[in-house]
Amino acid sequence: MELYVYNTLTRKKEIFTPINSPNVGMYVCGPTVYGDAHLGHARPGITFDIIFRYLNFLGYKVRYVRNITDVGHLENDADQGEDKIAKKARLEQLEPMEIAQFYTKRYLDAMDCLNVLRPSIQPTASGHIIEQIEIVKKILDSGYAYISEGSVYFDIVKYQNDTHKYGILSNRVLEDMLATTRELEGQNEKRNSADFALWKKAQPEHIMRWPSVWSDGFPGWHLECTAMSSKYLGERFDIHGGGLDLLFPHHESEIAQSMCAFGHEPANYWIHNNMITIGGQKMGKSLGNFITLEEFFTGTHKMLERAYSPMTIRFFILQAHYRSTLDFSNDALGAAEKGLKRLLEAQRSIKKIVTSKESTVNIEEIKQKCFEAMNDDFNTPILISNLFEAVTIVNKLLDGSEKINEKAIEELNQLFEDWFVNVLGIKDEQSSNMMPTIEGLVKMIIDLRKDARANKDWAKSDELRDQLATLGIKIKDSKDGVSWNLE
Ligand code: ZN
Repeated sequence: MELYVYNTLTRKKEIFTPINSPNVGMYVCGPTVYGDAHLGHARPGITFDIIFRYLNFLGYKVRYVRNITDVGHLENDADQGEDKIAKKARLEQLEPMEIAQFYTKRYLDAMDCLNVLRPSIQPTASGHIIEQIEIVKKILDSGYAYISEGSVYFDIVKYQNDTHKYGILSNRVLEDMLATTRELEGQNEKRNSADFALWKKAQPEHIMRWPSVWSDGFPGWHLECTAMSSKYLGERFDIHGGGLDLLFPHHESEIAQSMCAFGHEPANYWIHNNMITIGGQKMGKSLGNFITLEEFFTGTHKMLERAYSPMTIRFFILQAHYRSTLDFSNDALGAAEKGLKRLLEAQRSIKKIVTSKESTVNIEEIKQKCFEAMNDDFNTPILISNLFEAVTIVNKLLDGSEKINEKAIEELNQLFEDWFVNVLGIKDEQSSNMMPTIEGLVKMIIDLRKDARANKDWAKSDELRDQLATLGIKIKDSKDGVSWNLE
């Protein structure tokens, strides 16, 4: 069986053939760490987690690199505006690195909640300035970059005239790009309006700056990915991924940089996840529909009817193919939650099934269909529908209308373990081994607090409540008694 992958570069499905099988190199553009992770971050996180998990499942040895952009990503365009992180640092009177560290940790915490496996390497842009400067030098040597007023720009028109490669990924035409580029700061330094900065001279007020032969400055946004992917995966590697919003200009520019620095394209397969919309609209801070993952988990955004568990968010995203758009609504999340519950309950009840000598069910057939689904460009919605077939079988086995023997029930167990737990990465949050112990302990402490209250020892009562809260256990008093939940 072969794995087919849709390649954005060739616009068709291709048989996945790694350069150095069984090793696979995968580079994915990570977050710019200046704010909390939102639903738009969950999708690439989960999409490439699934690809990482499935390739591992097939026996490949994957080196997965996902960068952290902590410098160089500017507001509107890689060449203009104030650096996002520097701006936040100025507003909050913090060191830029404090901002970057703070949001990196929060991003990773959110991804951990979603059961997204950590990549093999998570390099930061600021930790690879020397490597980026080296690539600027290589591109200057190739003749496709020029120095202007202490900055270095990539000459898109010269590159396009010689190679006809600018636009191959995004399918854009240079004439249109030149025509639609807005007048931005620094434009008069450029030969062509669409040229992008490889190195930018820092203005006096710019906090993040490094010395170079051209000026005290900072690297252009596109450069970090060329520097870090080539450093950790080689100048040519297997998969380059990211969100569809990065196709142009970011990935297009990465290809141009590699062509000039190394003489060839960086990756064989380009994979892009589609976007999440909210009520059919793009997500955006100005539109008021910008929901962070923490707000989803706690239900604290005005557009949310209630909280949704991280696994519900994960399952919701996996119910769509990664190349389709996905529209968020409370109804859609509610439906995902129900579907997920059915699968989890079926998995938990396998142990209640009584086996017979004979078997009337065919688990092998479902297993083959799971492979077919994932081998067809990681088709998780089809994989999930196959697992729902397994749920139907579990229910029939429970009501006695089908029979299963020891060997087949082993296969049924393994089917859930392989595809539901390992490939889809669904974690049964309720079946933690410690849960009965935790429940018992919390009940004991609530009883102690009840005694304290009966004795009018309010200080003790508050202390017990606060200590539970520091452990992430929130207790709530109501007329029906005391309830609690684990945050
Ligand atoms: Zn990138």
